[in-house]
Amino acid sequence: MRRETFTTLRNLPSVDEILRDPEFHDFVRSYNRQIIVGLIRDELERWREILRREQPGYSRQEISSFLKNEVKNKLQNLSRGSITRVINGTGVILHTNLGRAVLSLEAIENVLLAVQGYSNLEMDLDTGERGSRYLHVEEIIKRLVGCEGVLVVNNNAAAVLLVLNTLARDREVIVARGQLVEIGGSFRIPEIMKLSGARLVEVGTTNKTYTHDYEQAINESTALLLMVHTSNYRVVGFTHEVSLRELRNIGEKYRLPVVYDLGSGTMMDFSPWGLEPEPTVRESLAQGADIVTFSGDKLLGGPQAGIIVGKKKYLDQMKRNNLLRALRVDKMTIAALCATLGAYLKSDVCSTLPVLNMLTSSVEELRKRAEGLKDNLLQELSSHDIEVRVVEVSDRVGGGAFPTQELKGYAVEIKSELKAELFAYRLRQGTPPLVARVQDEALLVSVRTLLPGDELVIPKLVKESLGGTDKERG
Ligand SMILES: *Cc1c(COP(=O)(O)O)cnc(C)c1O
Repeated sequence: MRRETFTTLRNLPSVDEILRDPEFHDFVRSYNRQIIVGLIRDELERWREILRREQPGYSRQEISSFLKNEVKNKLQNLSRGSITRVINGTGVILHTNLGRAVLSLEAIENVLLAVQGYSNLEMDLDTGERGSRYLHVEEIIKRLVGCEGVLVVNNNAAAVLLVLNTLARDREVIVARGQLVEIGGSFRIPEIMKLSGARLVEVGTTNKTYTHDYEQAINESTALLLMVHTSNYRVVGFTHEVSLRELRNIGEKYRLPVVYDLGSGTMMDFSPWGLEPEPTVRESLAQGADIVTFSGDKLLGGPQAGIIVGKKKYLDQMKRNNLLRALRVDKMTIAALCATLGAYLKSDVCSTLPVLNMLTSSVEELRKRAEGLKDNLLQELSSHDIEVRVVEVSDRVGGGAFPTQELKGYAVEIKSELKAELFAYRLRQGTPPLVARVQDEALLVSVRTLLPGDELVIPKLVKESLGGTDKERG
């Protein structure tokens, strides 16, 4: 037994032998040699382990051939990269795991323009002197939200960090206990506070906070009053919150800036579409926030970014903070943001920005699209034993916006011999992967979050994932 294993292990080709293989030659030449050697070593190690456990009875030739194939596949996958387009059938518009906002065509084109060659990212083309990357978005944001100063950083977490570090380092920041939010597991107000060097002072209780709670906590170490939009939950029932206007009054009385972390910054009022009221950026400034921070890739519908707007004197202080250098946005973000903001200047913004389009789709339109998808599915899968019907679903905005908002939508429900979980798994393995919903043992594809053309691809993906249950194959 021992001898046999030993013999089999000795059957493993050497790294050199594989590299010298004439069949492998072209492949080796067209890739990075060091990386290939690393992959071959890893594969050899894997084979060593297999051969220690069992004797599969392969010849040296066969093992060598398996190994070369493995290395080729791995390298090709690596060079393609693993991030790929996914079809979102979940009905969650700002799905953080699926990359949040889908960019508009104009934003994508603008990114291409900015990166294909050189750009005027930091050059004033009139003077030929050094300019500022932030200037590209400054005026448009000022006009859209009505503010004196603007700054853009990597994301809203960075925006809050920069505000706190600039205005409240080694000093105290007062926040209502009911607003100590956690967003998506990694953004927590108390943690960001610690990182910024500011000291958190919690006031009130989970459900109730009054103006006197703030006033009692104010002392000479107080740097600012922070209000955090509870964007992914609501405190309901026996509650009391100090409004932004009331907080502004306290701020004025004690000469303290009021900072509002709005999270999902909306530029628009969506109540004409039957959505619950969410504070807009403009409103928040008008109601007295000295500084408002919000995300670029939530309801704004643009690239990942954190936007800081408000009083010029505070923004100027932030621009001088060295931390900004570490949080600065790149040219792709600026290009995408410019085009996204540009869309808000026009009245057809709800059709140009995919996020707004999905949010404002009418129920009739969604129903029609679901019927269309159902027809496509039935046509493609006529020989399969499946049940397809259009069902009403409750979609969600996601990304920490409109937490309690039910968006009435439509989905196609597909029932087959496959268990829904396995069905969903197979769809995720498709090209492109389709992420569907599983609800009550049924597989659902919500049409709200589909993009043009997805309806034509989905039937093929479904067919492929059902492969084994084709009636024709018995
Ligand atoms: C989403 C959110 C954040 C974090 O924003 P990112 O852009 O994801 O960094 C912070 N605060 C609030 C209130 C949010 O909703």
